[in-house]
Amino acid sequence: MAETDDPRTLEGIRQLLARYRMRPSHRLGQHFLIDTKVYETIAGLVDAAGCAWALEIGPGPGGLTRSLLEHQRRVLAVELDPGLASLLRQETKAFGAHIQVVQQDAVASDWQRLAEAASMQAPLAVVGNLPYYVTGPLVAKLWEDALAWKRAVFMLQKEVAERLAAEPGQRKAGVASVLIRYVGVPTIVCSVGKGAFYPPPEVDSAVLVVDRVQAPPVEFSRLRWWVRAGFQHRRKMLRQALSLAPGSQWDKEGWDRHLEQYGISGQRRAESLTMQEWVRLAASLPLEGSETTPQDRLK
Ligand code: SAM
Repeated sequence: MAETDDPRTLEGIRQLLARYRMRPSHRLGQHFLIDTKVYETIAGLVDAAGCAWALEIGPGPGGLTRSLLEHQRRVLAVELDPGLASLLRQETKAFGAHIQVVQQDAVASDWQRLAEAASMQAPLAVVGNLPYYVTGPLVAKLWEDALAWKRAVFMLQKEVAERLAAEPGQRKAGVASVLIRYVGVPTIVCSVGKGAFYPPPEVDSAVLVVDRVQAPPVEFSRLRWWVRAGFQHRRKMLRQALSLAPGSQWDKEGWDRHLEQYGISGQRRAESLTMQEWVRLAASLPLEGSETTPQDRLK
């Protein structure tokens, strides 16, 4: 990769895209990061977790890939755009076996299988400047995919990062801010303005770090079902929201009595419950049919 084609600078990206006769695709959420300090921050966050391997989602022309490789990380990069995947293979040849590029949809792919096929070794990180049109499903892979990641470092819309990192009791708390805590502790590291990207997106961004924790003592599907049921009517008190859940076994009074046994007032709202309270509650309840599961509202 010639210095002038460094994909971490505006000039470098322009030259690379021109050389490969490509233009940023709005449809694929292609807003390339051109702030070298943010690249260093993200690579440093991977180093700090001691992760030798990184699964990179949406590498594009390879700015972050290059920073990770320069920090002696080994990278498995999953890019949907065939043109960019081939550009990246070509431009990172000098890094040999340290980089593998897979042209695939990262939402539909099985991350754990990909990691196994690439012989990735723990501890490993998942990183990416995520395409905004598909942020929700990609973040949900953190708890839906079997990959044993140690730290995730994602650039995403600031608004979405704030919702994911919201603490219980905060207005922005929701299904995703509870579910993410089943797998890790989310922290916003910094905000990144629109001007740090080419072409600039419509909204500001933020870097979110998620550090893996041991899963609490309840099956994930059971927890998810009841969290979704609680947030389905998030403005209502918990006793009413739960009595409206599909197939609910109790009326409001019944729910009051049940919740009381677990130290939770039926007059509280779903957004106020801590992970410990959700776990206690879900563990006391049956797993309902998944066809009637209320849906997440991350997006
Ligand atoms: N990592 C580069 C950077 O920081 O400049 C590019 C980030 S850009 C915001 C998002 C990248 O994700 C684009 O390269 C886009 O083609 C890719 N992408 C979009 N949808 C994808 C998907 N479903 N799976 C994998 N990559 C995807």
